[in-house]
Amino acid sequence: MNKKFVISLIGAPASGKGYIASCLAKELKEKYHLKDADVADISTGELIRQEKKAKTPLGLELSASMKEGGLAPDALVNKMLINTLHKINAKVLILDGYPRTVEQVKEFDQLMKDFSSAVIFRDTPVSLILERVKNRRICANCGRAQEVSNGKCEYCGGELVKRKDDEVLPDRLAEYEEMTKPAVLELKNEGKNFFFYEGTAEGDEIARSFLTANEKYFK
Ligand SMILES: [Zn+2]
Repeated sequence: MNKKFVISLIGAPASGKGYIASCLAKELKEKYHLKDADVADISTGELIRQEKKAKTPLGLELSASMKEGGLAPDALVNKMLINTLHKINAKVLILDGYPRTVEQVKEFDQLMKDFSSAVIFRDTPVSLILERVKNRRICANCGRAQEVSNGKCEYCGGELVKRKDDEVLPDRLAEYEEMTKPAVLELKNEGKNFFFYEGTAEGDEIARSFLTANEKYFK
């Protein structure tokens, strides 16, 4: 491989992107004999948290601009990401949920100019995701996850509550439908190295067909 290969993994929140990433990593190790350290998962949300925690100059800038509870500014996210892509010593870099805004999509070509790149887009209907998490609860007392049935924890009788993530999920899904999905589909219209999968496609099928279609990058 001459260049690092950046795979951008796009799909609705809670639609199982992490599972697709793990299938890709497994297939890369089997098919191309890559090692654990050759494949890196990168979440921009996680990078932002790390920068802020370490109080780097970029982290301080992020903290200042996100103080009001807003999104991280695209220019700062792009800068942080490009540094990371160059710094991490892996052959394949899997981006979880990037790009997600119109501005990030516009800068995508520029950002990817030193790398081979591809986009995996899995189109899971939002209604299906909401249905899946509708009855998902966690016990406020013992923390065990379970389906809501009689309203009490089946292990300890404690109160069942929604997970924090699930509570904010409808808002995140709406943001995805309105902002991320149309923005990222522009990359498909522009004829980028783009792979569209229906929501019914399984992670291992996606990993296999995607890597077969991109064999040339691994020569
Ligand atoms: Zn319990």
